Amino acid sequence: MPEIVAGQYPSTTQRGGRFVCAVGLVTWVLTFLPLKLHADDIITPESAAHAVALRDQAMRGTDALAIVGALTTEVGPRLAGSRAESRAREWAMGRLSDYGFSGVRTESFSIEGWERHGERAEIMAPYPQPLAATALGGSVSTPLEGISADIRMFQTLDALKAIPDGTLNGAIAYVGHAMQKTQDGSSYGYFNEARTRGPSIAARKGAAAYLIRSIGTDSHRFPHTGTLRYADDTPRIPALALSNPDADQLERIALSGETVTIHVWVQTATNIDAESGNIIAEIRGREAPTEVVVIGAHLDSWDLGTGAIDDGAGVGITMAALKLIKDAGLAPRRTIRLVLWGAEEVGLLGARAYQERYATSLSEHVIGSESDFGGGRVWQVTADSQSERGDRLFAEIARILAPLGIAPGSDDLPGGGPDLSPLIESGVPTLRLHQDGRDYFDLHHTADDTLDKLDAAALDQNVAAFAVFAWLTADSDVSFRDSGD
Ligand code: ZN
Ligand code: ZN
Repeated sequence: MPEIVAGQYPSTTQRGGRFVCAVGLVTWVLTFLPLKLHADDIITPESAAHAVALRDQAMRGTDALAIVGALTTEVGPRLAGSRAESRAREWAMGRLSDYGFSGVRTESFSIEGWERHGERAEIMAPYPQPLAATALGGSVSTPLEGISADIRMFQTLDALKAIPDGTLNGAIAYVGHAMQKTQDGSSYGYFNEARTRGPSIAARKGAAAYLIRSIGTDSHRFPHTGTLRYADDTPRIPALALSNPDADQLERIALSGETVTIHVWVQTATNIDAESGNIIAEIRGREAPTEVVVIGAHLDSWDLGTGAIDDGAGVGITMAALKLIKDAGLAPRRTIRLVLWGAEEVGLLGARAYQERYATSLSEHVIGSESDFGGGRVWQVTADSQSERGDRLFAEIARILAPLGIAPGSDDLPGGGPDLSPLIESGVPTLRLHQDGRDYFDLHHTADDTLDKLDAAALDQNVAAFAVFAWLTADSDVSFRDSGD
């Protein structure tokens, strides 16, 4: 039975001496005592001991940071449908084969690719000066000479929605709604509507181009890109995001009451038959190989940074978790499947392709979880369990994760990561390891999303959590679905 060494988890035990020993002892008792009392029909004591050993091995150090380092250095930015995303697939295939996993394969699908050729924004009047701006993903080009027009300022997307259609007369519409930091990133869904749906709303109002304050929480001159979704029934207008300080500057100038004239220039291209793909690797189940526990992250990134936090971190965490289980020589009862999703950023296209390809076997997908919220530590675990045995296995997972500073939470729909949303539609239960994401939207989709922002110890804590979750759910026969048990 593995020994828990007090003080090996730097985040929770930097208190020194005797207190740490006491924490270690209490941890040991909490970890092993209740198991003996009630968990044997959910997981065996041996299986629980393996989970504890995986957790402790991960906390001593994993390959996660080295994996992200290799991906972001040897491949770099890897926009969906690009040659770089294809090189990322080759990189992943090579690594996963070297690690000795089963069923390592690429599952290709085609998408409409998009690429950025250049962009510029500047204030022409009353105070001429350049602005730090980036085209939103999927934006059409301006004419070659760009677009110069007066700007119409809106504090929120709702304020833009409220004006009558066709009344902007070729102005450039600006929405300045500022996203605020949260631990769980939960406001992103609300704010990013200004990015995703704003361009077509502005077009309907008669705008010639659309400008937003970045959907981001930093105060640096890094504008945040991200995908937009044009409506089918509306003209497509060019769309850009300003960095937060540039948005502040524009709003200050507008407050003077003078007419503000802006020039924007965007050049992009599309390829209607670009290739993308999901990468799969497995540890095959020893008794029930068709029952699958899914972990993973998305392999594509935006083009501005090297995609270290979004989502190189998730790739490193989940690849390292699978490798940890394999290197421990463990063979779970069910299959653990790692999926490195392609083309997530441009509309969960890899996840949709997977849903279609595995439609007939999704009923045997036991549970899934994606890591796609950067490299911060996990602070909470929630699960979508519909069964009494599922609840009890979840309690065991939470108990083994508790020494990592992870608390169980209740959440009717934990999500489990964006790429799992099509699987949720198909009835697959999910578990979510909630990371501290207070800084995530400082870097998200910017040129500042680079390797130096990641912390090895925090990634290791994530690996520990993923390994415990994947091992315990795969080594049991528990169903999380509502089957009346
Ligand atoms: Zn992501
Ligand atoms: Zn993203």
